[in-house]
Amino acid sequence: MNLVTPRLFALADDPATMAAQEVETIRTIIHTCGLAPTKARNIHALSRQLVEEHGGRVPADLEALERLPGVGHKTASVVMNQAFGQPAFPVDTHIFRSARRWGLSEGTTPIRVERDLMVLFPQETWGRRHLQIIYFGREHCPARNHDFSACLICSWANPEGIRSG
Ligand code: SF4
Repeated sequence: MNLVTPRLFALADDPATMAAQEVETIRTIIHTCGLAPTKARNIHALSRQLVEEHGGRVPADLEALERLPGVGHKTASVVMNQAFGQPAFPVDTHIFRSARRWGLSEGTTPIRVERDLMVLFPQETWGRRHLQIIYFGREHCPARNHDFSACLICSWANPEGIRSG
């Protein structure tokens, strides 16, 4: 997505201009992304909703963001934190995996893990911790073939390898 964004914004860099595009035009630009047809429809519908319901601006409101097509709780939380500086602890796949491996949460859904992390970390650190865990998880914690006992980074904290998944 990071690679196609410059071309997408060269086509339309505000919601009104994006809403005026054909869905097919958007799809052609983002065709290298997974689920491009669905994403193109969502980008178009989201842009129209921003124009019709929010004066063409991205709302600084979690629930309003979650109502936008294609925007779930995680993405809405990222926008609240990164764009508007509001406290949020979005849980992506890396945070979900790492938090459970590290014993920070036994939650079986991202929402449950998010709640546990919000209790564990001071609110003023949520945005920073969110990014730190993502970068660490991406770099060091493979989703598959994870072997606690073979990793020198944090296997020392759990010598019995209880959380090996
Ligand atoms: S043992 Fe290594 S791979 Fe596993 S959670 Fe710790 S740092 Fe990540």
